[in-house]
Amino acid sequence: MENSTGLKAQEFALVSISELGSSSSSSASSSPAVALFSAENGVAELRFQPESESAAPLNVDLRTAKLFKLGPVQSVCISEGSETGKEKLYSRGVTVHFKNEAESGAFHFAFEQLKKELAGEGKCLPNGQLSSSKSKFDDKIEPSSAKMYFHYYGQLLHQQNMLQDYVRTGTYYAAVIENRADFTGRVVVDVGAGSGILSLFAAQAGAKHVYAVEASEMAEYARKLIAGNPSLGQRITVIKGKVEEVELPEKADILISEPMGTLLINERMLETYVIARDRFLQPNGKMFPGVGRIHMAPFSDEYLFVEIANKALFWQQQNYYGVDLTPLYGSAFEGYFSQPVVDAFDPRLLVAPSMSHVIDFSKIKEEDLYEFDIPLRFVASVGTRVHGLACWFDVLFGGSTVQRWLTTAPGSPTTHWYQLRCVLSQPIYVMAGQEITGRLHMIAHNAQSYTIYLTLSAKMWGPGAEQGGIIQSSSCKLDLKEPYYRMSQPQPYAMAQDQQPHQQIHSQDVPIDSQDFEDPDFIPQQSPSPGSKITLAEFAKYKSSGL
Ligand code: SAH
Repeated sequence: MENSTGLKAQEFALVSISELGSSSSSSASSSPAVALFSAENGVAELRFQPESESAAPLNVDLRTAKLFKLGPVQSVCISEGSETGKEKLYSRGVTVHFKNEAESGAFHFAFEQLKKELAGEGKCLPNGQLSSSKSKFDDKIEPSSAKMYFHYYGQLLHQQNMLQDYVRTGTYYAAVIENRADFTGRVVVDVGAGSGILSLFAAQAGAKHVYAVEASEMAEYARKLIAGNPSLGQRITVIKGKVEEVELPEKADILISEPMGTLLINERMLETYVIARDRFLQPNGKMFPGVGRIHMAPFSDEYLFVEIANKALFWQQQNYYGVDLTPLYGSAFEGYFSQPVVDAFDPRLLVAPSMSHVIDFSKIKEEDLYEFDIPLRFVASVGTRVHGLACWFDVLFGGSTVQRWLTTAPGSPTTHWYQLRCVLSQPIYVMAGQEITGRLHMIAHNAQSYTIYLTLSAKMWGPGAEQGGIIQSSSCKLDLKEPYYRMSQPQPYAMAQDQQPHQQIHSQDVPIDSQDFEDPDFIPQQSPSPGSKITLAEFAKYKSSGL
C-alpha cells in the first residue's frame, strides 16, 4: 500500500467487529472485518473495514484512541470525541474479536508501537498531521518500482508460477520437513510470504506460531489459503505490510524466506531478508536459507554472440523507407550487449572451473549488499574464444538434521531462475592453461536491481607476448533489470537423456565449511507439464525484469 506520509501501513484480519452503542441496523454490526492502520491525508487513523462491500468503514483517530483487552481474543478500541467548530463529535467504541490470542497480541503490539511512534519526535505535528519519515524500504526504492513490484506479486498467477517450480518448492518442502527439529515448538517468521506456502510448510513441521509477512495484495489470498487449512492455519498469522515497517509481538527462533532473484541479488529482496533478521530474529536464531553463493565461470558460445551482434544489424540499413539508420547502429549494438542473457545453457560451454562469492545471510550487513566487487581469476581448460561470464547461484538450508542445497547450476534440473550470462562485445582469446583475470562489480539501483560492470582480461600469446605480456581486456556494463530472455528460442544445446557431458568442468570453489559442501542433493524433479517451459520463461521475464 502506498503511504506518502511514512506511517507504517499494516493490516490485520479480524473475526468480527461491532460498534458500541450502535443499533442493530448499523452496517458494521458484528461482521468480519479488516483493521488497517493508515495515514491518509497525513492523519494517522485506524480503520475497521467490514468485509461486506456495502458496510461503511469505521475510522478511529489514533491520536486519541485507546485499546483495552476484554478477554484473550476480544478487545475494545475507544476514541475520544472532540469539538470541531460547532459540531460536537461523540466518543466511539468498537469491540474487536480476534481469531486467536496470537492475533490479538500482534494487533495490540502494532497499536502500541504506532501510538509510540506518533508521540515520538517530529512524527506528529500539533495539528495532528504526520511529518514524513520514510521506512528503510521507501528510502532506497523508487515508489513506481515498488508499486509495479508488489502489483506483480499480488497476482495469483505469478505465485502459481513459483509454486510450479518444483525444484524450488520441493527443495524448500524437503528442507523444512527433514529438519522438523528446527521448527517444532518454534516461533517462525515467513519473510515475504506470498501465497503463504512456506508458512504452511513450517506449520506442518510443528511450528508453535508463524508470522507470515507479505506486503502485496497476495496477503489476502494467503489469509484465504491459510483459513482453508485450519489445522495449520490456527498457528499462522498473516500480517500485511512491508517487512521493513510491520511490528511483530515476539522474536522469532527461525526465519524462512525465498528472497532470491535472478543472479541471487535481483529484486534486492536479500536486503529485506537481512532487515528481517535484525528486526525479528532472536540472537543465534536460524535462517532458512542461511547462505547463498554466486558462481561464475567464463564461457564460449559463438552462436549466442552472433545472435546478439546480429540484432543490431537492423540499424545498418542506409535506406529504410528513405532514411539512413546507421547513426543509431553503435547505440543499438551497445544496448543489446548491455542485456544479461537469461536461459538454460549446456555446462560444456564453460571454459574454466567456476569460482564463487559467498553471502552469509546470518552475518552480512544490509549496506554490504548495496555494492560489491568480486575479483575474478580462472585458468582456462581449453584454447578458445571467451564470450563472457556465466553466473548462477545456490542457497543452503543448514538444518540441524539435514543440510540441503537449492541450486540453479547449468546441467542441474532447470528452475525458473535459469542461469545468467554477461556477454562481451569484444571476445578474448585464451589458450589451455592460461589465466583469465577480471572483476565483477555490482551496484544496486533504486529500481530494485543492479548495474553490473564486468571486465575480463588475458595475456596475448601472439607476437610480443613474451616480451612484455600484452593484455587483451574487454569490459561491459549491464543492467540486471533489463535481461534478454532467451528461453523461447530453439535450444541448440539440448542433450540426449543418456548423453553425459564430455567436458564437465568441476568447480574450484573453496568450501566455507566442509560439512556444508557436500554435493547438492535433490529430490526427484517432477516431469514438466506441457507448456510449463513457456510459463516459466514468461514468469522469469516479469520476476526479474521491469515487472
Ligand atoms: N514465500 C513465497 C513467495 C516468494 S516471492 C514462496 O516461496 O512461494 C517473494 C514475496 O515477497 C512476494 O510475494 C513479495 O510481494 C514479497 N516481498 C518482497 N519484498 C517484501 C517486503 N519488503 N516486505 C514484505 N513482502 C515483501
